[in-house]
Amino acid sequence: MSYTQKVLDATIQKNPGEPEFVQALTEILSTLAPFVDARPEYEKHGILERLVEPERAIIFRVPWVDDAGKVQVNKGYRVQYNSAIGPYKGGIRFHPSVSLSIIKFLGFEQILKNSLTGLPIGGGKGGSDFDPKGKSDREVMAFCQSFVTELYRHIGADTDVPAGDIGVGAREIGFMYGQYKRIVNRFEGVLTGKGIVYGGSLARKEATGFGLVYLVEEMLKAHKKTLKGKTVVVSGSGNVAIYACQKAQSLGAKVVAMSDSGGYIFDADGIDLVAVKEIKEVKRGRISDYVSYRPAAVYTEGKGIWGVKCDVALPCATQNELTEADAKLLVKNGVIAVGEGANMPSTLEATEVFLSKKILFAPGKAANAGGVATSALEMSQNSMRLSWTFDEVDQKLKAIMASIYANIAAAAKEAGLEDNFVAGANIAGFKKVAEAMIAQGTV
Ligand code: NDP
Repeated sequence: MSYTQKVLDATIQKNPGEPEFVQALTEILSTLAPFVDARPEYEKHGILERLVEPERAIIFRVPWVDDAGKVQVNKGYRVQYNSAIGPYKGGIRFHPSVSLSIIKFLGFEQILKNSLTGLPIGGGKGGSDFDPKGKSDREVMAFCQSFVTELYRHIGADTDVPAGDIGVGAREIGFMYGQYKRIVNRFEGVLTGKGIVYGGSLARKEATGFGLVYLVEEMLKAHKKTLKGKTVVVSGSGNVAIYACQKAQSLGAKVVAMSDSGGYIFDADGIDLVAVKEIKEVKRGRISDYVSYRPAAVYTEGKGIWGVKCDVALPCATQNELTEADAKLLVKNGVIAVGEGANMPSTLEATEVFLSKKILFAPGKAANAGGVATSALEMSQNSMRLSWTFDEVDQKLKAIMASIYANIAAAAKEAGLEDNFVAGANIAGFKKVAEAMIAQGTV
C-alpha cells in the first residue's frame, strides 16, 4: 500500500465522526498521492502524519447572559493546525453547525491556502456553535467578550491571528478586539478584518470576493475567454458573495441570481447590488426581501440556485452546497467555469463531474485566498504602523491572485494534469510547507 493511502486510512480511522474533515483529507491526500509517493523523503520525515494532526486543538466553554437574564453556554474552538511557514492564521466562524470536524476541515485547507498566497502565514481556524442571527447587539457583544476571555491566552500578533468567516464580520471583530485589548493592555494586530479607524486595512472587506473574480478572470483569460458579457450565478449573499458580485459586474458580467439559507432570487435584468447591500449589510434581513425592491425579480424558497442557467458559477455560501446533481445540471446548462468563493462548497462527486467534463474549475483554497492574503497585508500594515490606500491594497491583491493562478496552473502542468487546478493547488501549497517542516526538524 502506498504511503499516502496508509496515512489516509489511519487518519480516517483515528478521527471517527468527522465527515467534513475526512472529506477534505480525502480530496487533498488523494490528489497529492502521485507527487508524494514518488518522493520517499516525505515518508522518511513523516510529513503527512505530521500534516494531518493539528499542532494544537483547543475546545472551551463560552458562558454568556442573554437579554432575558438567562445564562447560555456555547462551545468555542481554535485549531492551530500548522505553523511551519508563519503564525497560525485563519477565520473564526459563528454558526450553529460548527463542530470540531468543520473547524478541522477548514484549518487543514487553510494550511495549503495560506502557503499558496506566498505570504508567511501558517494555518488555523476557530469558531463556535453560537448563532448571531436574531441576537441583539448586546447579546453578540456579551458572547464575543466571553469567547475572547478564553481565546486571548492562545493568540497574539506573532502567534495566531484570527479573522472573520461565516457569522463573523466587522461588528464581531470589533467586540473581540476590544476585549482582547482590555485584557492584555496592548494595541497590537492580533485580529484582522478590523474597522478602518482602529487598524483595519482598506479593501479587506472586499478582498475575498474581489480576489475570487480576479482569479476566475485570469483562468478565463488563459483560455482565451473573459467574464465580459457572461451570465453569472453567485450563491450566498454574505461578505464573499456581495463583493464577488460587485467585481463580476464591474468587469461586465451579468449576475442573475443570489441566495441565502432560505432560498434564492432570480433577476433577469441583473442583480441590483445596492438593494442586496441594504438588505444584508444594513438591515441584516433576508434575501426574500429583494422582491420588494425589484418586483420583476422572482424569489424561490429552498435550494435550487444551481438550476439557473449560467456561464460562470460562483458558490460563495458554505461547504457542500453544490452536489453531484447540481454539477450535472450546471454542465447540462452550459457552464464554462466554476470558481469556489466558499470553502469546499462542491462535494467530492461534484468536483469530479467538473473535472471529468473539463469545466474550468478553481478550487476554494486558491480562488478564495484573497481574503487571507489581504489579512496578511493588514498584519504588515499593523507592524509598520502604516495604512496603504485602497488602490495600493487592491493592486497587491490582484498581483497575488495572478501569481496564485500561475502557480497552480504550472504545478498542474508539471504533474501532467494540465488544467486540473485541484491537483495544482494542493501540490503547490504542500511543497512549500513540507520543505519548511523538513528544514525545522521533527517538531
Ligand atoms: P457570511 O456569514 O457573510 O455569509 C454567508 C452566506 O452564506 C449567507 O448568505 C448565508 O445565508 C449563506 N449560507 C450560510 N450557510 C448556508 C447554508 N447552509 N445554506 C445556504 N446558504 C448558507 O460569510 P462569508 O461570506 O464570510 O463566508 C462565505 C464562505 O466563504 C464560507 O465558506 C467561508 O468559509 C468562505 N470564506 C470567507 C472568507 C472571508 O474573508 N469572509 C475568506 C475565505 C473563505 P444566511 O444568512 O441565511 O445564513
